[in-house]
Amino acid sequence: MSLEENIRKVFDNMAQAAREAGRDPGEVTLVAATKVQTDETIRAAIAAGVPICGENRVQEMTAHLESDTYAGAGLHFIGHLQTNKVRQVVGRVDMIESVGSVHLLEAIEKQAAKLDLVQDILLEVNVGGEESKSGILPSQVEEVARLTLTMPHVRLRGLMAIPPVAGEDGNRRFFREMYELYVDIKQKMVDNNSDINCLSMGMSGDYMEAIRQGATLVRVGTALFGPRPPMGTQA
Ligand SMILES: *Cc1c(COP(=O)(O)O)cnc(C)c1O
Repeated sequence: MSLEENIRKVFDNMAQAAREAGRDPGEVTLVAATKVQTDETIRAAIAAGVPICGENRVQEMTAHLESDTYAGAGLHFIGHLQTNKVRQVVGRVDMIESVGSVHLLEAIEKQAAKLDLVQDILLEVNVGGEESKSGILPSQVEEVARLTLTMPHVRLRGLMAIPPVAGEDGNRRFFREMYELYVDIKQKMVDNNSDINCLSMGMSGDYMEAIRQGATLVRVGTALFGPRPPMGTQA
């Protein structure tokens, strides 16, 4: 199938999953996970209707930005961000979805203050409680969310999760737990400094289930662009 056909298929599936859950399909936005894709492919995806690109690697993103590859689409940073690379990301993306530590949050606030802008962020939650993964534990989300209210250059927009490798139930349990956490934080953070309406979860293998459980952003790579080379073989 062509890229255009894949994109149409994913949009159709997204709308179907939303309707199955009694949701308005307009509540859910596709973020195309564009890691390892060329400028040409990313441009074609945007031309075919991809509204937001999600990038993992600072170096790749910087190169694409220099070529103005993302013109016509929004840009989210979705990968692991080291504090020493914050300068290359803050103010250059519409949203940093992967804020998984207080240390990183503070670095973002500092850089955004320096640039005199407000950076939209999501808190990345380690919903599976996996030791190998970064992210804020569910039990600490409220505390960190409250901390963002003291940071004038950071605006908390919601939560993001990369659940454990899908099990039998396609991560439904984790998606449901994330949705409950999201609703809870949304209720507790009613404040001028925050505008919480984003729940980012679901990838190629499980975005329909994530939408049924309440996702507002799905991050999809393989289902749009086909398989990537195995991790570790890339620069
Ligand atoms: C690559 C990536 C995705 C998309 O994964 P696919 O399985 O290819 O859809 C989503 N989120 C993050 C953070 C990613 O790095």
